[in-house]
Amino acid sequence: MLLQDLADTETDFGRLESKLSEVYSYLGGIPARELYKSLQSGQGMSVVYQPQVNVADDQVSAVEALVRWQHPTVGPVSPRVFIPIAEETGLILQVTEFVIREACSVAKRQPDLTVAVNLSPVLFAHSALIERFAKTVEECGVTPHQIEFEITENQPLADDGSARDSIAFLRECGFRIALDDFGIGYSGLNRLNHIGVDKLKIDQSFVRRLDCLKSEPSHGTIEEMIEIGRTMDLVVTAEGVETDEQRRFLASAGCDALQGYLFARPMAARDLDAFLGTRTRVPAAA
Ligand code: C2E
Ligand code: CA
Ligand code: CA
Repeated sequence: MLLQDLADTETDFGRLESKLSEVYSYLGGIPARELYKSLQSGQGMSVVYQPQVNVADDQVSAVEALVRWQHPTVGPVSPRVFIPIAEETGLILQVTEFVIREACSVAKRQPDLTVAVNLSPVLFAHSALIERFAKTVEECGVTPHQIEFEITENQPLADDGSARDSIAFLRECGFRIALDDFGIGYSGLNRLNHIGVDKLKIDQSFVRRLDCLKSEPSHGTIEEMIEIGRTMDLVVTAEGVETDEQRRFLASAGCDALQGYLFARPMAARDLDAFLGTRTRVPAAA
């Protein structure tokens, strides 16, 4: 696997180009090589930021960094399309480095803000890569307390202990870990205890169901998830909040923070600066 090759040696992105020509990895008709070209040139890659708002005081507690790719002829390509290509080809390393550097530039400008970065589960099998991300943050001159790494629950983490060790390493460095898409995947309670996280992000499918069904079961499921978070002393955030009705229910059920179009869509860094200028922030926890 390409990622393994990269983890085993010092970074050699030049080597990757020839490898990529061997990888016939098309998704949505777009060859992986074009993603590679954009990453090399920086053309077409960008990061947008979506605020997370505290239930208690309506202040922005964190923002999530979300990568964007504008293909030269196709136009915008969803990360749901190109992240799997990046994971398959090893380009996820470059994507993540790019996002971390961009996120750090926002964190530097906004020293009271926590910036969350998504880490693909495939990266956790390689401790050298995880150490490298920590180093990148250090090189950018940003304190680890300002960076939160989100790990999705919808793909399994390596079972051999390497993922748990990588997460423990990041937490020891001072980074915070959020379990993303919570509720749809692989983390039973035991597993949660085992890997050690600081925050749960309730998957947006549960929030959506609150509206569609108006059913007691979906309310109950969310309440149970919040209870798990509280019992384990974790911060609980809900994603995909679009309506005031959802906001009211999630607030009364005990969520700590909310994220969704109701508050703000993901926005460019310059717009974020303006958005934050209109609100007070809660300092990143030390
Ligand atoms: P995610 O990490 O669960 O991110 C939340 C997604 O929900 C984002 O989609 C965001 O724009 C969208 N969203 C936020 N609020 C609402 C809402 O109120 N309603 C609806 N319908 N959607 C909302 P986006 O940016 O298209 O990203 C999709 C997925 O791609 C992300 O899901 C994440 O899994 C992945 N992704 C994005 N950026 C990165 C990255 O830098 N690295 C990695 N590894 N994955 C990324
Ligand atoms: Ca996320
Ligand atoms: Ca999510």
